[in-house]
Amino acid sequence: MVGLRLFAFTNTPRNLLVELKRALDGQFSGLFKPVSIHPDLLPIPEDAYDSQRRQYKAQPFLKILNAHVPPNEHGLSLVNVDLFVLKLNFIFGIAQLGGNGLVALPRLRPSFYKLPSNKTLYFRRIFIEVVHELGHVLGLGHCDNYCVMRFSNTLADTDQKPAKYCDTCLAKLLI
Ligand SMILES: [Zn+2]
Ligand SMILES: [Zn+2]
Repeated sequence: MVGLRLFAFTNTPRNLLVELKRALDGQFSGLFKPVSIHPDLLPIPEDAYDSQRRQYKAQPFLKILNAHVPPNEHGLSLVNVDLFVLKLNFIFGIAQLGGNGLVALPRLRPSFYKLPSNKTLYFRRIFIEVVHELGHVLGLGHCDNYCVMRFSNTLADTDQKPAKYCDTCLAKLLI
């Protein structure tokens, strides 16, 4: 079992981390040691903003996160700004295989698409994306089964995924 630590960058509501910890502890108690929450918010990297795209580069956020994750733990951070990486218009999340991961919140919010707010749906999307990136953190690639490790191109893909690993992925996780 690996230690898992949840982080958030400045301007992310901290209660989301508490809710996330509760959901992860409930659903994945056999996979992780009890999830911990990092006591401080991480600073938004100054060099990350691209003023032409009005989005933030993901890599500087990963760099800061990597510097704060203790040895023998994996870190997953929520980021409350719109992230991108080269060649992609945006990303819902990113993770380094066997390392740490990020999930970007803005595009998971119904209000981003001018839809009425829906906290249940918003949290479900955060949970799905977090469980997906954690899969990568724990060494999983993408999966074609009915599985949280399916690749999401659009929010509709995210909404159609189950919030759990398929048996094949789970078996790999438990090795
Ligand atoms: Zn992925
Ligand atoms: Zn799978």
